[in-house]
Amino acid sequence: MTQSLATVSYLGATILFILCLGGLSNPETSRRGNLYGIVGMTIAVLATVFGPQVTAGGLPYIIGAMVVGAAIGLYAARIVKMTQMPELVALMHSLVGLAAMLVGYANFIDPAVSVGLTPAEKAIHEIEMYLGVLIGAVTFSGSVVAFGKLSGRITGKPVLLPGRHWLNLAGLLVVIWFGYRFVNAHGVSEAMLPMIVMSIVALAFGVHMVMAIGGADMPVVVSMLNSYSGWAAAATGFMLSNDLLIVVGALVGSSGAILSYIMCAAMNRNFISVIAGGFGTEGGTPAAAGGAQPAGEVNPIAAAETAELLRESKSVIIVPGYGMAVAQAQHTVCEITKTLRERGVSVRFGIHPVAGRMPGHMNVLLAEAKVPYDIVFEMDELNEDFPATDVAMVIGANDIVNPAAQEDPTSPIAGMPVLEVWKAKTSIVMKRSMASGYAGVDNPLFYKDNNRMLFGDAKKMLDEVLAALKA
Ligand code: NDP
Repeated sequence: MTQSLATVSYLGATILFILCLGGLSNPETSRRGNLYGIVGMTIAVLATVFGPQVTAGGLPYIIGAMVVGAAIGLYAARIVKMTQMPELVALMHSLVGLAAMLVGYANFIDPAVSVGLTPAEKAIHEIEMYLGVLIGAVTFSGSVVAFGKLSGRITGKPVLLPGRHWLNLAGLLVVIWFGYRFVNAHGVSEAMLPMIVMSIVALAFGVHMVMAIGGADMPVVVSMLNSYSGWAAAATGFMLSNDLLIVVGALVGSSGAILSYIMCAAMNRNFISVIAGGFGTEGGTPAAAGGAQPAGEVNPIAAAETAELLRESKSVIIVPGYGMAVAQAQHTVCEITKTLRERGVSVRFGIHPVAGRMPGHMNVLLAEAKVPYDIVFEMDELNEDFPATDVAMVIGANDIVNPAAQEDPTSPIAGMPVLEVWKAKTSIVMKRSMASGYAGVDNPLFYKDNNRMLFGDAKKMLDEVLAALKA
């Protein structure tokens, strides 16, 4: 493939990626957006592999590696459960970071890369390599820890070392000092020590940063690492002089940064305080280890009674959460919605921005079950409607409907906007036990007079509700 054909292909792929991002911003166009992304990526890979930068001798290795990688990717995508998607995404981000690190090291030890460069160009290239490895290492280790936290292999609570801000500052100074030595080193052997020290510090910083963030702040970490993976890809693009990788990396990096901002706004948190870590440990009462102990009496309800209440309602708001994803109850939820709407009941869905375990988690599930988009609303769009609602049905959600966020200034989640389900005439919470949610905070909603608890697996209980509704 000639250089000009490769350039045109890259341009086409870039346009498709932008169209892809545009499409993904709305559930109705998201399938088309995905398709643009797939076509764009296929063009990008083909134009790179058969492009002028790859020699014929290297082709078998690249194709061999692609076959192995594609087989692993296909297998992982096939076996992953919907509830494990956030972990898989975190793991994928770690691979982008690792790739940036490896490309940085390969560039660094390959003498051919700097042949023919002027001193200024050489210095710029060295800074690119240093920064590429730095961003890659932070992304890699941070994403591995995020994977551990999201999959429950590592504690979800913030782990705070004493003097952690000073540790981070010391790390930053070490990285800057060795960066100076790296750029001024003569030859690879002299530059090797600064590169290795910086890599170790960056890896430790990634671990330290994500370990210190926890509880309800995790969504911000997920989107932040998404952004970092974009910048790591852009850094790789600079090292390889690959324009497409720079553009795509910048697209991912900036959209991830915007998402982090949106997530922070949704949690009423400031980005710096999230990054500084320790949710629920400054000012508030720390979340109790192993989840808070429940306090007070609750009013249980049976499935048949729930169906009766729903049937007699004029308006119902359904609030889905992580438990709906675990139980895979979205199809039954859709059936119940259909049945109620046929009977003239107004049914709407209230989606909290951080419901579930990844941005847009609930929207994906509801779209999969073919719930009409026009009855799915963001939290802000219907939060004021709860007082005029007969039944608010909470399906496997907990933190996102916790009134303590508004009522208890000492709560670890104080100030976080929540769906005000307790203002409905009756709220029904569907979950298996009194266990706390991801943030490990007790939920006073369960003990309110107008709240009823429908205990059991969400899918099983909703099947019973549906059967009773249809009877
Ligand atoms: P929560 O984790 O607060 O609560 C989920 C509830 O679902 C649990 O209390 C659990 O109770 C219940 N549950 C689990 N399995 C089932 C089942 N099979 N049937 C019925 N219920 C079930 O989830 P929310 O969606 O309310 O809130 C999301 C939380 O996750 C927030 O704290 C958010 O910050 C955090 N988070 C969000 C991310 C995102 O990007 N959206 C990323 C990472 C974290 P029980 O065990 O009693 O059944």
